[in-house]
Amino acid sequence: MQICVLGAGVIGVTSAYRLLQDGHSVTLIDAMPEAGSQTSLGNGAQLSYSYVAPLADPSVWTHWPHYLFGADSPLTMRLQADTAQWRWLLRFLGASNRHRARQTTVELLRLAAFSRDSLQQIATALPALEFSHRNAGKLVMYTEPRELHGARAQVDFQAQYGSRQEVLGAARCLEIEPALASSQRRWAGGVYTPDEDVGDCGAFCRGLVAAMRSDPNFRFLSDTRVTGLRLSDGALRTVFAGERQIEADSFVLALGAESAAFARMAGFALPVYPLKGYSITVPLAEAGSTRAKADPAPRVSITDLSRKIVYARLGNRLRVAGRVELVGMDRSIPDRAVRELVMGTVEMFPACRGLSDPARLSPWAGFRPATPTGVPIIDASPVANLYLNVGHGALGWTLACGSASLLGDRIAGRAPAIDDAPFRFDFG
Ligand SMILES: Cc1cc2nc3c(=O)[nH]c(=O)nc-3n(C[C@H](O)[C@H](O)[C@H](O)COP(=O)(O)OP(=O)(O)OC[C@H]3O[C@@H](n4cnc5c(N)ncnc54)[C@H](O)[C@@H]3O)c2cc1C
Repeated sequence: MQICVLGAGVIGVTSAYRLLQDGHSVTLIDAMPEAGSQTSLGNGAQLSYSYVAPLADPSVWTHWPHYLFGADSPLTMRLQADTAQWRWLLRFLGASNRHRARQTTVELLRLAAFSRDSLQQIATALPALEFSHRNAGKLVMYTEPRELHGARAQVDFQAQYGSRQEVLGAARCLEIEPALASSQRRWAGGVYTPDEDVGDCGAFCRGLVAAMRSDPNFRFLSDTRVTGLRLSDGALRTVFAGERQIEADSFVLALGAESAAFARMAGFALPVYPLKGYSITVPLAEAGSTRAKADPAPRVSITDLSRKIVYARLGNRLRVAGRVELVGMDRSIPDRAVRELVMGTVEMFPACRGLSDPARLSPWAGFRPATPTGVPIIDASPVANLYLNVGHGALGWTLACGSASLLGDRIAGRAPAIDDAPFRFDFG
């Protein structure tokens, strides 16, 4: 079958790879010159196989006034005259209860575990694919003893589903990651997950596309912005990119946060809304140099829970990412967002020298393509030959390879490798 995959972020690229493996001819389209240039580029780099609890949880209700009015809140909302935003928010609040949060956690744990295996298969099949992939382990650090105590319930809950996590005191956390010793925060302790990995998602996308280029059944149309479409008899016939017309037997929608706009053109609504976030990438000393030995940057991935900032070392760079903003598709990168990440890093790792040159921090903004529950949609759509792989929110890098496999099963009509019912969507 001729299949056209719309969007070359990590979801579109892994979908294209999987469909090629299944013997299809694949055309991958993206508006940007290179794959993985939008939200898949500067994300937190965490392959967060155990840390999957959704944003929609009961604590939203107590934090709500702080989100709306708190100057230092890590989550901000700019309410707009946008029905899509209001509809999404209402569904998000409806999902912010204990029962739904636990159900989402279980569904995502299963997909994440499957994704880990799927990513490992790709890495084994393509040994030259270089994306700073390593098992880093993860420490989620707490400043409030009460919150650390509360984390134990989640750890116990997830243990039933195979997560290997420990609640540790501050001293033990510092033994695991000595770079935390110079931090100016007063830690109550942390949750340690030894099995979590890190990897450079943008490099993975570019490398996977480079590998696919040697396959005669693959073509990548870069610099190709989709501007319209033509439907007939309930099926998608043509996608327009300016003057260009692209036809295929089937299409896969993987336009990240812009998927909802495409769905609207195709005549149906998708509950996917952009949750904006930011990152900086701090250069570290070259590996092997004398400076590298004294380098105060962490080897273990760190989350500073109260600030909602994540730190991941990718070779000789430290990726620092954070914030959740409901502000529509505003692509600006305000100074205050960069300052917040720099200040967080200074407090955390005061001796980190790379921070001294702000011009080298590569400030970046991206849009988590989020469903209200946090569960992605991997399904057919109301348009006969259009399939969906959308809505991976804060976990798109983690979930990409497993999602692509489920999509391949769906298109082939095969029994899915894991239960795919949670990822189907009722279009009513
Ligand atoms: C601050 C931040 C930190 C994050 N940290 C992590 C993390 O640590 N771990 C994790 O698992 N996930 C993380 N995520 C989430 C993850 O980055 C996303 O879920 C994932 O990148 C989404 O991939 P995607 O392919 O759906 O979207 P994208 O990567 O945005 O890809 C969509 C593609 O569609 C293209 N496109 C859009 N419109 C058009 C059009 N009209 N025509 C042609 N092309 C078009 C875009 O150019 C883009 O390349 C983070 C996100 C943010 C914002």
